[in-house]
Amino acid sequence: MYNEATDEWVLNGTKTWITNGGIANVHVVVASVDPDLRGRGQASFVIPEGTKGISQGQKYKKMGIRASHTAEVVLDECRIPGAFLLGGKERLDERLALTREGRRSGEHAAMKTFESTRPSVGAQALGIARAAYEFSLDYAKERKQFGRYIIENQAIAFKLADMKMAIDASRLLVWRAAWMAATGKAFEHGEGSMSKLMAGETAVRVTEEAIQIMGGYGYVRENPVERWHRDSKIYTIFEGTSEIQRLIIARAISGLRIQ
Ligand SMILES: Cc1cc2nc3c(=O)[nH]c(=O)nc-3n(C[C@H](O)[C@H](O)[C@H](O)COP(=O)(O)OP(=O)(O)OC[C@H]3O[C@@H](n4cnc5c(N)ncnc54)[C@H](O)[C@@H]3O)c2cc1C
Repeated sequence: MYNEATDEWVLNGTKTWITNGGIANVHVVVASVDPDLRGRGQASFVIPEGTKGISQGQKYKKMGIRASHTAEVVLDECRIPGAFLLGGKERLDERLALTREGRRSGEHAAMKTFESTRPSVGAQALGIARAAYEFSLDYAKERKQFGRYIIENQAIAFKLADMKMAIDASRLLVWRAAWMAATGKAFEHGEGSMSKLMAGETAVRVTEEAIQIMGGYGYVRENPVERWHRDSKIYTIFEGTSEIQRLIIARAISGLRIQ
């Protein structure tokens, strides 16, 4: 809610699942400023450290990436000076007016930003996949079972070939999307989503195969691959789930509002 007399925004609500939520120096909040526009009337605010009315709610215990803090952020009568509205009030008013008149889709700038940040999330997933691939490749070349190295069995060697191929394909998609973001090219076919989707799903598959290649040694905590498998799963969930990435790509290539 905007208070014209004091030039302040008053934010209320709770957001679940926030990385560094409640402990970050700066929070960027995307809030609904016109509920009548049902999700299309949003604005972004910068909330600096020390602002009253912002706090951490519950902290989550996660399956993986446990070194990363994830918590609820609670906004309770949180007052923000008008200057902390990203883009400024004039531009927001223009955008909301056009959306109300049906002359603008109402797509928020944050959605476009996500396309260009997705390659960096894909790159994280790629790093996990690569680590698991290299670890299990070394293991397969060292571990002897029934008189030969396990990599000498096609069943194992073919897994590693598939892992390498998927990692290289993911890397090329990540590089392409990162290059597009760095050079300001438009993501016309969901290229950012493609990079994150492919790298995230590759990381889950590759880490699982790495455990399989290592047998019992892959399943125990003295080796890192079981942790990499747990860590990899988040890449099909945050920064847009795999289903939502497919939706973005499908909409981009069809020009239709696929549901
Ligand atoms: C560790 C962690 C860190 C996070 N960090 C942040 C953060 O810093 N900032 C932030 O804003 N968010 C963050 N998130 C939130 C994350 O982006 C969401 O969890 C994710 O977008 C999914 O939303 P949801 O959990 O509400 O699932 P839901 O939206 O309830 O989805 C549940 C399932 O339904 C599917 N689904 C939903 N809608 C559709 C549809 N239209 N079509 C097809 N399938 C659909 C989903 O793909 C999913 O499989 C984080 C989450 C986690 C777990």
